Amino acid sequence: MTVSGAGERSRSRTTLTGWGRTSPSSAYTTAVTQPDDVMEVVRRGSSRGVLARGLGRSYGDSAQNAGGEVLLMEHMASTHSFDPDTGILDVDAGASVDSIITEFLPRGWFVPVSPGTRAVTVGGAIAADVHGKNHHAVGSFGMHVRSLDLVAGDGTVRTLSPESTPDQFWATVGGMGLTGVIIRARVTLQKVPSSSLLVETQRCDGLDELMARQVELDQQHRYVVAWIDCLTKGPRLGRGVITAGDFAAVSALPAERAADPLAYEPGRKVPTPPFVPSGLLNRFSVAAFNEAWFRKAPRSKTDEIQSMATFFHPLDGVQGWNRLYGPAGFVQYQFVVPESGAEVVRTAIERLSAIGAASFLGVLKRFGDASPAPLSFPMPGWTLALDIPTGVVGLADTLDDLDELVAQAGGRIYLAKDSRLRPRWLPAMYPRLAEWRAVRDDMDPHGVFVSDQFRRLQP
Ligand SMILES: Cc1cc2nc3c(=O)[nH]c(=O)nc-3n(C[C@H](O)[C@H](O)[C@H](O)COP(=O)(O)OP(=O)(O)OC[C@H]3O[C@@H](n4cnc5c(N)ncnc54)[C@H](O)[C@@H]3O)c2cc1C
Repeated sequence: MTVSGAGERSRSRTTLTGWGRTSPSSAYTTAVTQPDDVMEVVRRGSSRGVLARGLGRSYGDSAQNAGGEVLLMEHMASTHSFDPDTGILDVDAGASVDSIITEFLPRGWFVPVSPGTRAVTVGGAIAADVHGKNHHAVGSFGMHVRSLDLVAGDGTVRTLSPESTPDQFWATVGGMGLTGVIIRARVTLQKVPSSSLLVETQRCDGLDELMARQVELDQQHRYVVAWIDCLTKGPRLGRGVITAGDFAAVSALPAERAADPLAYEPGRKVPTPPFVPSGLLNRFSVAAFNEAWFRKAPRSKTDEIQSMATFFHPLDGVQGWNRLYGPAGFVQYQFVVPESGAEVVRTAIERLSAIGAASFLGVLKRFGDASPAPLSFPMPGWTLALDIPTGVVGLADTLDDLDELVAQAGGRIYLAKDSRLRPRWLPAMYPRLAEWRAVRDDMDPHGVFVSDQFRRLQP
């Protein structure tokens, strides 16, 4: 249904979901292309509030606003300027990491932090304060934002920066769209010698070895992550494959790549079939996949050259892969625990394996220092992310139990992945929540900005 009033941009009633395709809800969506469009919708307001949405790559309900207004930011995506002396890019918040890489990698610049997909907007990357494989080396995305422009609850534009408005700036970084609509940002890009990476691969037979090797490799490489097999038991529990890499110097490249070292080839996308039956990814198919994937990896290999796209975004090669989980969708469960709570990683794998919660995408990574943002997810310690199909018997209770263990260990759940956390755990997991709320209430006294997730997590 399309609805429009005098002087308004046309807006439609649209059903939205997150990437996990659970919890759909319907909102009035407006595709905005300029700051005035955003200001108009924010000023008009709605009894059900307003929310910005990027490319919808958060997994749960954080980019949805049932019955309210949702601003689709992806078409507000211009590059305003780039300074090669400082690496500072001034860009609209709807620009994607993909478009920045496409424009700047051939010029020798890369995003400072990239999540596991290129299909995220700058606004979404700031609002979730996303992390990449280099978190241990350079921190989260917000650490590389010099300033941002925000349409606040009163419909005016404010420029926020860590120096001039630290409270408001850091409440917006990781603030999940609840302090206002980010319309533009200045982000420092990273200079790179080539578009290829020099990669080391290590296969480890169990969790202790996997963690110990990751600690070592963090010292040696800028980008480190481990794929983990979550269906194994006993001494092989948590076996996995670590990939660690760095952008390759031109001198390390084979002749054909050295001839054009910054060439960027995102690779062809393989489509998923239009109809995927429920249960395609089950305990048995995933166990077979995991076995093959584990065996395929070399026990130890160094100096392998990989393209940027293969190293950072292998899943982007399979278009719409989230539909492989069937119409019921899937949950991504991602938590972080401090070093002292590392045992929770083992317990989570054991408990989920015990109920047959097959995850073909298990990722383990060690974080470095946290950013100053009160709601930012990363903290020093271990983060485990698992994709689990919904409908596994006992899943909800098991995840509830794990939430408690994570909270008791001083850890937290990642809001950008969450679709199911209960409100009682939020203050324990995010101990600076009250501080964030005070800044947010000051920035948006009438509570204009709301999401389904925000409503769900209200005490
Ligand atoms: C395959 C895959 C791999 C991923 N890997 C990682 C990873 O390695 N690390 C990681 O940290 N995350 C990862 N993510 C999660 C993803 O990076 C975040 O959810 C990110 O926020 C998505 O950006 P988006 O533009 O799609 O935002 P959306 O999902 O549309 O929105 C996310 C949140 O940002 C807010 N928001 C969006 N735009 C704006 C704006 N302009 N102003 C204010 N608020 C805004 C929304 O209101 C919402 O709360 C992954 C996701 C996928 C699908």
